[in-house]
Amino acid sequence: MNHRIFLSPPHMGGNEQKYIQEAFDSNYIAPLGKNVEEFEKSICQYTGAQECVALSSGTAALHLALIILGVKAGNEVLCSSFTFCASANPIVYQGAKPIFVDSEKDTWNMCPDQLERAIEDRIAKTGRTPKAIILVHLYGMPAQMDKIMTIAERYQIPVIEDAAEALGSTYLGQDLGTFGDFGVFSFNGNKIITTSGGGALVCDNKKWADRARFLSTQARDAAPYYQHTAIGFNYRMSNVLAGIGRGQMEILDDHVSVCRSNYQFYKDLFKDVAGISFLDEPDEIYRSNFWLTTILIDEKAAGFNNYDLMEALDKANIESRPLWKPMHLQPFFASAEAYLNGVSEFLFNCGICLPSGKNMTEEERKRIRDCVEAFVAEKQA
Ligand SMILES: *Cc1c(COP(=O)(O)O)cnc(C)c1O
Repeated sequence: MNHRIFLSPPHMGGNEQKYIQEAFDSNYIAPLGKNVEEFEKSICQYTGAQECVALSSGTAALHLALIILGVKAGNEVLCSSFTFCASANPIVYQGAKPIFVDSEKDTWNMCPDQLERAIEDRIAKTGRTPKAIILVHLYGMPAQMDKIMTIAERYQIPVIEDAAEALGSTYLGQDLGTFGDFGVFSFNGNKIITTSGGGALVCDNKKWADRARFLSTQARDAAPYYQHTAIGFNYRMSNVLAGIGRGQMEILDDHVSVCRSNYQFYKDLFKDVAGISFLDEPDEIYRSNFWLTTILIDEKAAGFNNYDLMEALDKANIESRPLWKPMHLQPFFASAEAYLNGVSEFLFNCGICLPSGKNMTEEERKRIRDCVEAFVAEKQA
């Protein structure tokens, strides 16, 4: 049997183990040390952010951003509905209420019209402006930043960019994660780069970054003994894992270029197939890292649906997956307020994520091509 082709497997560049060895040689196994410093520095240099705090996960980064922005029990926080649950869960950790906002069709990210409608309606109903906006750049595709930031500024609502999937993507040449008050990256095993598990919080405000460093290391006061005036968290990244991150930053651009070529490969593969459309960059302002290549299938035109294609791929030992199930459809968030236009439900119903390995080989592409061509020939004969 052929090896399984995974959706988004990790890929190491080679220097990761060298940096891990350095941590071992210096015996800086835990928690901080040179790898953490250098990893943070490389993220600042790459993205243009002034400050970076390496953390145990992207979820932890989102949680700290909410805390530092003062989100408390009873507050309302606007959040993209079309996303992974980790975007919204930290709102609940704070005892605050997520208010979900639907997507637009061009980037699949937060719809500016629905965002404005949500803000106006929350003000009308509660007399208060929502406390923050969690804006997600899904699958690496930049959201409509000009419109979203204009609305956020007009209502003076801070923005947390969930760029967990979007390291290496830009909007008008500026790196995602650096538009909002905070940016969040994830280095989970399946992301564009990985530390096996980890995340980072970026911002341009040194006080906020210092606060994140303080809160992520159990909020220890400057005293000779352990004294605490705040509740902290054990959220800091370990110096060993940051060694993986240093090696991964060296090949981030290679990963982005392979992921972009994966997208081109699928564009060619599906060129003459009826009923297929892609999440494309709307124009040259948007540059996606194409972390995952995603397509929509119009069942009537195609003669098959997303689950049919997933099943055919699976039979050939090739992994694919549906798109994220929107948060407003999740049983846990059933009673949350949501401002909807049908777009994210439509995407969820007919979309699929295709294998998007960061070192996908020609042999793997051939297997995918053979499988898809045989399947389409059968369905569209
Ligand atoms: C992966 C992911 C996260 C969470 O990151 P972790 O490092 O796994 O905690 C948050 N938001 C989105 C959109 C993600 O894809």
